[in-house]
Amino acid sequence: MPEFQTSPGMRDILPPESGRWRRFTAVFADVVEAAGYQQLIPPLLEDLGVFTRIGDATDVVTKEMYDFVDKGKRRVALRPEQTASVCRSFAQHRPTVPWKVFYSGPNFRYEKPQRGRYRQFDQVGIEVLGVDDPMLDVEVIALGWEFYRALGLRQVTLQLNSLGEPDDRARYVEALRTHFEAAGEQLSEQSRITLAKNPLRVLDSKREPDQPFIESAPQIADFYSDEAAAHFDAVQVGLRALDIPFVVEPKLVRGLDYYRRTIFEFLGGTLDSAQNALGGGGRYDGLVEALGGPATPGIGFALGVDRTLIACDDEGCFDAEAPQLVAFVVDVVGGLEAAVLTTDLRAAGLSADRGYDNRSMKAQMKLANRSGASFAVIVGEQEHADGTVVIKPMHGGDQVTIPRSELIAHLSETTNS
Ligand code: AMP
Repeated sequence: MPEFQTSPGMRDILPPESGRWRRFTAVFADVVEAAGYQQLIPPLLEDLGVFTRIGDATDVVTKEMYDFVDKGKRRVALRPEQTASVCRSFAQHRPTVPWKVFYSGPNFRYEKPQRGRYRQFDQVGIEVLGVDDPMLDVEVIALGWEFYRALGLRQVTLQLNSLGEPDDRARYVEALRTHFEAAGEQLSEQSRITLAKNPLRVLDSKREPDQPFIESAPQIADFYSDEAAAHFDAVQVGLRALDIPFVVEPKLVRGLDYYRRTIFEFLGGTLDSAQNALGGGGRYDGLVEALGGPATPGIGFALGVDRTLIACDDEGCFDAEAPQLVAFVVDVVGGLEAAVLTTDLRAAGLSADRGYDNRSMKAQMKLANRSGASFAVIVGEQEHADGTVVIKPMHGGDQVTIPRSELIAHLSETTNS
């Protein structure tokens, strides 16, 4: 074993998997750019306060943050998510609304590593600031849905809920507090701690002793104001109009504290339940204000790249594929010919690789084979003297000798036909 390994919860994404990651982001960008979203690239590191404003009852903020004091004595943190950064950016730059942005990149959470849960993990996401319209909620959810379709996933389900207006939510939280406090010691110790901070999060508990009390807990729907109820209805009407199936899940609360009104989660059909949340999001109408900006409604989602790719593996879609090379140049007359030929081929848009170290014909042909290239382009003594090349199809067919000047035209034609 070498001395250094990746730290717990951190991974190298090796080829060809890394190519799949790049295509994943590209597909996402295609889907959301077609809807008018543009990319925001926030820094990986922010003032700690940007994230503590998210709320102090979440593990993400209280236990899992990679925070430290930098050499300028600032309290900073590696971002655990990107919504807070987007809102900080909005408050800082005050762009015109609606501001429709997307992002992709790594986040950091000091979690217990396991399959589908890492300490550095990538997300792609969108956020829209400045629009209250429930039709925007519909658009945002529909884009997530469309992205999963574009990947080829068919077993994703959509769970939907509304946390009501802030006042509704506050009354609901009090009702929950009363309800769970009545359970007293019967509640798990962990949930009693959570209860003191945020009764909503007790609904998230998967611990056995808590289940009967979660079952009998008050329902958020009974606390909606007329406005919140109308907004939620409109979102559901919109989703039905787009034929997007969903389930209203009254106990869905989502991890972070800043959500209000619409919240949703996409669940994978194949992963076990602890890791089956592929992504989620919701409205967070107070977050920009909490970060020092003007009162601004916002909504968005973040989708986990790792878990979505695990779901793709399980469903047998969106495979990792090594890029297909057109040509592998085998040069047994010193290597300079290969330098010129590969450069010419690449400039003409034909992918090409080569062997090095002036190895034998046999050794280079082995490399050509292993490379998966469609053609070996061979320059031996004879071809070198004649100004020709041999083109050998690697997956069956006869080899031909052609003038070197015709190489690009020949391969372009063959690969296009
Ligand atoms: P959240 O920001 O917690 O709402 O998470 C959104 C999505 O990001 C989740 O549904 C997961 O797919 C993914 N995610 C969150 N935390 C992790 C993690 N530690 N490792 C891998 N994926 C994660």
